[in-house]
Amino acid sequence: MNPASDVVVIGAGISGLASAWWLQSGGHKVTIIEADSRPGGTIGTVRDSGYLVEAGPNSTLETSPLIAQLLEQTGTIAQRIYANPAANNRFILRGGMLLPLPLSPPAFFKTRLFSAGAKLGLLREPFVRRSSPGVEETVAQFVRRRLGVEFLDYAINPFVAGVYAGDPECLSVRAAFPRLFEIEQQYGSLIRGQIMGAKERKRSQETPKQSAPMLSFAEGMQTLTDGVAARMEDLRLDTRATGMSRGDAGWEVTAAGPRGPLTLHAKTVVLATPTNAAAQLMRTHAPCASDALDAIPYPPVASVASAYARADLAHALDGFGFLVPKKERRQILGTIFSSTLFGNRAPDGMVLLTTFVGGMRQPELAERDEAALASLVQEELVSLLGVRAAPQRTWVKRWKRAIPQYTLGHLARIAAVDEAERALPGLYLCANYRGGISVADCIKSSRTVSDRVAQYLGRPDPARR
Ligand SMILES: Cc1cc2nc3c(=O)[nH]c(=O)nc-3n(C[C@H](O)[C@H](O)[C@H](O)COP(=O)(O)OP(=O)(O)OC[C@H]3O[C@@H](n4cnc5c(N)ncnc54)[C@H](O)[C@@H]3O)c2cc1C
Repeated sequence: MNPASDVVVIGAGISGLASAWWLQSGGHKVTIIEADSRPGGTIGTVRDSGYLVEAGPNSTLETSPLIAQLLEQTGTIAQRIYANPAANNRFILRGGMLLPLPLSPPAFFKTRLFSAGAKLGLLREPFVRRSSPGVEETVAQFVRRRLGVEFLDYAINPFVAGVYAGDPECLSVRAAFPRLFEIEQQYGSLIRGQIMGAKERKRSQETPKQSAPMLSFAEGMQTLTDGVAARMEDLRLDTRATGMSRGDAGWEVTAAGPRGPLTLHAKTVVLATPTNAAAQLMRTHAPCASDALDAIPYPPVASVASAYARADLAHALDGFGFLVPKKERRQILGTIFSSTLFGNRAPDGMVLLTTFVGGMRQPELAERDEAALASLVQEELVSLLGVRAAPQRTWVKRWKRAIPQYTLGHLARIAAVDEAERALPGLYLCANYRGGISVADCIKSSRTVSDRVAQYLGRPDPARR
């Protein structure tokens, strides 16, 4: 067998596309296959009647120069837009009221979001002992121990719902928020780490999440994945990988394509699918890694976009949006003020809101039908934003398996994946269950994986450079 490609990438979400791009631009011959009829995976934008609606991510944080590099190379940098500065404000629901998250120390001391006791309690944080590095704590255990229960309930619980659609009682702090864990280990305190880590952050090329600019594109997030896909020399849509096997010269991938079954030969494979497909394809080669992948939970999430006349809403929508702590016992996780966040998302005089339902907190709600979801969201927005009329349009997208949860035991599961890669030379796994769930994290992980693949392949054929 003489492999036709250097690499077959399975899955054309951002992880697979970016991996394929870094390898192709390094001179390697890459084939990328995608089960769906369009590239992008979770990233998907709809333009409809003057509205720009995101089915998945609404933005991402520019935490690394790699992101601008990818946009530059794939011709989308001119369409990059940054969030409106007004979107720095974020609201948290407490006692039925949307209270602004304090953005400065004086605002923190004045805010009604936390009680005087909780604020004073922060003074003890530098003296709380660090956890033993051998103990895997949940996010909730970590925050209760260091910051107290009120910060868990009214800062971390809603934040975790906003990022992971997750539950801090289940997520592993070390796996889901590795930086928090590292700061505690390095400085013994989050507050001390914040102050003393400033110099180190200045030296690093990476920008911390809390200060990274938030970006999208004039025509939405799909510009990113469409831009990469358009530059791939061999992208095959409607082509689902059904099996993989390893021979002397490399890997054979079988797939069901639009014109029937096909077989692809390559020296290496990058598996960039969600865990269920990866587990199935790895079952006979690495049963332990396959079981580990199957054990990663993905709750369902529904994303409901609602369009209103500006005049039909009492709230000023002067921010990114709001998050809902579990304690408030509502039916939604939070809402993004999409038309405040970026311009060009709704026609003049109209506003667009994107609300998330379900997650680990209330998975059953995300399973409701589209009409029930739209009316549940309307009921909550009437109460929380002073909506006075029915939405003029709604768009509902239900994700059955939305976001992988880095729960307790996640690091051991990923260690099983690392072990499978060592045992199966030429096979690499890259997707949002490893290295971070955000679009930016997927881009960074794809670079790490493609560097490893390139190292394995050696120098590309000079004729292709
Ligand atoms: C509702 C929602 C909101 C989000 N909001 C944000 C946000 O605001 N900011 C942010 O940074 N991140 C956000 N995220 C997270 C982020 O969008 C995802 O983690 C990221 O896009 C995942 O990319 P991926 O390539 O790893 O996986 P995916 O996008 O899932 O791509 C995997 C691809 O593999 C394909 N595939 C599966 N099986 C096969 C097979 N057998 N053969 C071939 N192809 C196959 C799939 O069709 C899919 O296209 C959000 C996620 C969701 C669900």
